[in-house]
Amino acid sequence: MPKYIFVTGGVVSSLGKGIAAASIGKLLESRGLKITLIKCDPYINVDPGTMNPYQHGEVYVTEDGAETDLDLGHYERFTNAKIGKENNITTGQIYNSVISKERKGDFLGATVQVIPHITNEIKSRMKQASRDKKLDVVIVEIGGTVGDIESLPFLEAIRQFIIERGRQNAINVHVTLVPYIKTADEIKTKPTQYSVGRLRQIGIQPDILLCRSEKPLTKKVREKIALFCNVHQEAVVQALDVESVYEIPLLFQGEGLGQLIINLLDLKSKEQDLDEWQSNVVQKIKTPRYEIKIAVVGKYIALQDAYKSIYEALKHGGIANDAKVKIKKIDSEKICQEGSEKFLDNVQGILVPGGFGQRGIEGKIETIRYARENKIPFLGICLGMQAAVIEFARNVCNLEKANSTEFCEETNYPVIALLEKQKKVESKGGTMRLGAYPCKLEEGSKAYIAYKKSAGTISSSIEIFERHRHRYEFNNSYQKIIQKAGMVFSGIYPAENLAEIIEIKDHPWFVASQFHPEFKSKPDKAHPLFSAFIQAALKVNC
Ligand code: GLN
Repeated sequence: MPKYIFVTGGVVSSLGKGIAAASIGKLLESRGLKITLIKCDPYINVDPGTMNPYQHGEVYVTEDGAETDLDLGHYERFTNAKIGKENNITTGQIYNSVISKERKGDFLGATVQVIPHITNEIKSRMKQASRDKKLDVVIVEIGGTVGDIESLPFLEAIRQFIIERGRQNAINVHVTLVPYIKTADEIKTKPTQYSVGRLRQIGIQPDILLCRSEKPLTKKVREKIALFCNVHQEAVVQALDVESVYEIPLLFQGEGLGQLIINLLDLKSKEQDLDEWQSNVVQKIKTPRYEIKIAVVGKYIALQDAYKSIYEALKHGGIANDAKVKIKKIDSEKICQEGSEKFLDNVQGILVPGGFGQRGIEGKIETIRYARENKIPFLGICLGMQAAVIEFARNVCNLEKANSTEFCEETNYPVIALLEKQKKVESKGGTMRLGAYPCKLEEGSKAYIAYKKSAGTISSSIEIFERHRHRYEFNNSYQKIIQKAGMVFSGIYPAENLAEIIEIKDHPWFVASQFHPEFKSKPDKAHPLFSAFIQAALKVNC
């Protein structure tokens, strides 16, 4: 049976619990242990797919087509864990399942209650997601902050779990804040004491405290936290702010966290080996040879987390090309109001990400016109590809006011439209084209070259698998006219003849995909399209 690490958070949200959990996973993997990670989200939505990015940040899509929390993106970027549908558990899913069991009569005679029915369901979902017999450790991150009403059933479930399995098989790592108060020139332990107090009130004694702090913790502070929170001194681990999140596993290693976990869970492992991570990722981030500025033009720019995987994938593309990628975030609505020149004249590459709805779309189309006409390397993703088709149809093929039926149902030229089967779909949750589908690349195209370079050698008919999250598709009735004008359809989903990648011939690097390449990019293995995009931007400009 695997051992369990439950990661909780206290004091405030946004402490980086997801990165902490992913970094713990990295530490354990680098000792030869097989791990997986699970995220529990206390909201009542079944998944975040129906939420606005301003509510939730990016919706991360797994290979098996689940719309999940963005922390699963951190898990996949930091580790090799197999992550899918089962790795994100929400209150909505738990209640859904308990209520349908109740209707079936599974609990006949009983009053269905939070304890034990909801907590049992939570525990059984955790076990189900960790049933792979080869697993050594399962890391379970509980969303929210200790003290929230919503997360109580999850905390109660882990309390029971720790008792059932025993403390040598299941531990709690609590991520907390140790703030620095400028006027007193002191770091304060009280918020941590209170949040551990809340945990202990509900029966959970943390084994390790990960203390987020902008100043190093002195020996005295560590002693005080240990005494008041009832943990060993070496279990008070400092987690200082860092420039790049990819440094965190190394930072934790320096604090002895890996060994501490090995001891607490009585695990047998190899020596820690983070040398490759250090040299292939962290060192490259710290000492880049080049610097490049890439514009990301979207409508959720104000929120850091809305395009999380895209920002990370751009950094990975930088690592692969020995370059620091500076990201200029531009609100597409501003492009509409103030013109593209003002925002885009000093960038070396332009990326238009995915999105939904009318707001900001014309700014994206104008941005793409600018990239195409000024021969600036361009990468379009999902809605970014659809907008690139619309722009080309309008401005090159003279299909006046061409559009997607998502934005204008009456358009004379619906170059992007719904497939018949999507027209029949009424329910909004989990009904888009989701997850990995195959795509065949056209030999010699820019996409083909990018994938070929990344894979080493590949045969002439190369098939890739990429993740999707969209309803609308390129309308094949316009393929001939658009192709004739110079757009290349370089990636096709063969089973339904759907356009997956488009390119422009007469341009240094203009590639857009219907799928989301950002979900498969890793710091030590940049996604081929991101790597080739950054390379093209460097080539044109340096
Ligand atoms: N709104 C578009 C569609 O549903 C694009 C979706 C996206 O960019 N993820 O097809």
